[in-house]
Amino acid sequence: MLVILAPTCTDAQRTHVIDAVRGTGCRVEESLVGERSLLSVLGDLDRLRRVPLEVFPGVQKVVPITPSYNLAGLEHQQEPTVVSVGNVRIGGGGFVVIAGPCAVEDGETLLKTARAVKEGGAHILRAGAWKPRTSPYSFRGLGLAGLRLLREVSREVGLPTVTEVMDPRHIEAVVSNADMIQIGTRNMSNFDLLVEVGRSGHPVMLKRGRSATIGDWMLAAEYILAQGNPRVVLCERGVRGFDSVTRNILDLSAVPAVRSRSHLPILVDPSHATGKAAFVPSMSRAACAAGADGVMVEVHIRPEAALSDAAQALQPPAFRDLCEDLQLLSQVIHPRADV
Ligand code: PEP
Ligand code: MN
Repeated sequence: MLVILAPTCTDAQRTHVIDAVRGTGCRVEESLVGERSLLSVLGDLDRLRRVPLEVFPGVQKVVPITPSYNLAGLEHQQEPTVVSVGNVRIGGGGFVVIAGPCAVEDGETLLKTARAVKEGGAHILRAGAWKPRTSPYSFRGLGLAGLRLLREVSREVGLPTVTEVMDPRHIEAVVSNADMIQIGTRNMSNFDLLVEVGRSGHPVMLKRGRSATIGDWMLAAEYILAQGNPRVVLCERGVRGFDSVTRNILDLSAVPAVRSRSHLPILVDPSHATGKAAFVPSMSRAACAAGADGVMVEVHIRPEAALSDAAQALQPPAFRDLCEDLQLLSQVIHPRADV
């Protein structure tokens, strides 16, 4: 960390700053740049972060030179993290396809959709038992009953599952019935929930908050990692924009941006990003070309009967075609992949 002192900083103010830094156990090296003093601070910066140096009299600017996400960052680990979800590995090469309906609606629809996505080429089944809905009057999921259906279908078709948790009281049930916990966009900043899923030790898919910066998102991941749970996968799902032609703006540059900062795997969800089934195949291919570790897409056997997100659901034939494209594309993009 660098502390730039103001040209007007008095000797007493300078000493006060240096004493405060040393009081945390950190070392200070001072250099003069023209008229002003530059303090380079070395040591355990976590302790120093608790001292609000920027408001000390005589301080002009504090410049952090390491990101505040230690565990999620490349300084902590260079090799890519690989997260196992059932028998599927996410990260470190390969391209994973997660697919399924938005919500668990009933056993038969889920089973038929699960069979269709497995035949089409999906590796993991998705379906929400608890649905975060903008309106309290929309279908909000079957809850525990939905979770049980998800487990039955998962066993029947032989696909591991991911499902969203919104309430810490449901984490235990999700851990025993699903293979991966999803944290949705609306809960990326629900820090108590992040701590609890961190404590669970279960694989977590952390979706990007809809107005979160990459830095906010990485710090949200840090909450989970800091609980001793390294099994975190990021998922870009679009950020809020000004144009209603698409539901959100898919930020595909998040893929290289995350790669340049973190060892965590990154997926892309083109369904919630675009909100339109017709746009999902091209954006899935683009995600693969951008170097993502996989995609998550919504599929429904009869979108016209879907209880949520009908407009963005692919039908099984379109999903199968997409998987064929992704298989071909990922052989070029991830040559070592065994998709
Ligand atoms: C979902 O994937 O089911 C979902 C609700 O997505 P998001 O949190 O990205 O809106
Ligand atoms: Mn949905």
